[in-house]
Amino acid sequence: MGYFPFFIDIKNQKGLLVGGGKVAVHKVEKLLPFEPILTVIAPKIDERLLENQKLSCFQREFQDEDIEGAAFVIAASNQEELNKHISELCHQKGILVNVVDDKERCGFLFPALVREGALTVGISTEGASPQVAANIRSEIAARVPNRIEEILDYLAQLRILAKAKIQSSEIRAAFLKETADFCMEQNCVLTEEETLERIRQYQCKEQAEKNVAGVTLVGAGCGAYDLITVRGMQALRHAQILIYDDLIDERLLSYVSESCEKIYVGKRNGKHSMKQEEINALLVEKAKTGKRVVRLKGGDPFVFGRGGEEMLALKQEKIPVKEVPGITSSIAVPAAAGIPVTHRRLSQNFHVITGHTVVTEDGLPKDIEALAALQGTLIFLMGFTHLRTITERLLACGKSPDTPAAVVHGMFQKEVIEKGVAKYPEAVAVRGTLADIVQKVENTAIPMPAVIVIGETAGMELLEE
Ligand code: SAH
Repeated sequence: MGYFPFFIDIKNQKGLLVGGGKVAVHKVEKLLPFEPILTVIAPKIDERLLENQKLSCFQREFQDEDIEGAAFVIAASNQEELNKHISELCHQKGILVNVVDDKERCGFLFPALVREGALTVGISTEGASPQVAANIRSEIAARVPNRIEEILDYLAQLRILAKAKIQSSEIRAAFLKETADFCMEQNCVLTEEETLERIRQYQCKEQAEKNVAGVTLVGAGCGAYDLITVRGMQALRHAQILIYDDLIDERLLSYVSESCEKIYVGKRNGKHSMKQEEINALLVEKAKTGKRVVRLKGGDPFVFGRGGEEMLALKQEKIPVKEVPGITSSIAVPAAAGIPVTHRRLSQNFHVITGHTVVTEDGLPKDIEALAALQGTLIFLMGFTHLRTITERLLACGKSPDTPAAVVHGMFQKEVIEKGVAKYPEAVAVRGTLADIVQKVENTAIPMPAVIVIGETAGMELLEE
């Protein structure tokens, strides 16, 4: 398969046709619409060629010099030897040559052609079956609308117009495709008024895309409303649509403007929480209104907050999206109970771990054994209802039963705290060891959500009760 269907401009290019019979007549018919400068040489030339004003005909034998200056040559004589000789000459000189009925000596082939206005379709079977090529040619020809010439002229002009009027290459391509489909299906072209109206519609689409203000994912911080960052607060103040969920200090809601649409996607009041896909779809839908959307998430959006998933969903829709980090509960909540996550000599590292993953059967991460062996601080989020599993697994992995442990609830409001629960200005905590923390938690009424801290620093209490 060495024949590539290049479309070559042969207008004003010199072409030589050696042969003057029926085959030559046929080749001339095919070539002339493309306006080459054709010379025909043969001792005997068909009347139809001789009479054709667009050809230069010489009734004589072919001479080798005849090929000089030719861009392409067609050897269509009835002498096989002569055709072979011409082919060799052309190959030597690097001139494209077609030898009638001798594919092996051809540098180019004549396809079966459909030509209507600017539309050209060439079909080749590499000489295997001109009949098949002709069949396919007829089928294509029958499918071409009869106003194709007019349609193509119109679409060529439309491309120039679209380039000037529609900046976005994607929207322009959609406009050109839909208009071309319409013209082909309806076998018509649009009037000037209709064209301008269509362009206006696409310009509106372009404007709507440009106007998308985008989404800002804001970390609300954790434990108290004023732990949000200055940048996060600014985003909140400018929000036109706010989408928020649980684990956010509701006092933050009073900082958004009155006209801001507030949408709660959490699961309070016994309502089912929205599925993540639904939240993603809602974000995309709201962003497409062009308004400034703020997605407010507890703690930091990227710490077990599915902020990454939401960002990807928005990016997929080419919606601009920013992220403002927040103070994560994994650090702020222990701190509110006077527990530092690291402390010189006591803990040189800390690890934030999910207490409830769907990836494993018991809900703990696969590498829990490796984590248990670390001397640093282990911080479990989403682990309150799995506290027993967590402590049992850590003990089974060889962690000392005397390791300090604390379960801390970071308060949003000054709640009344049940008996037996340590009180701090912004947190309630139950303290114990890996061996007895489950029992101690059961004896108190510490509320959810909570952060579980396990390690030497969990025994520290830097704040006054
Ligand atoms: N992105 C959040 C975490 C979301 S996962 C962040 O960075 O903080 C939810 C878990 O966070 C809860 O199960 C709990 O373990 C913890 N959490 C969030 N707010 C809390 C609070 N006020 N007090 C205690 N734990 C909290």
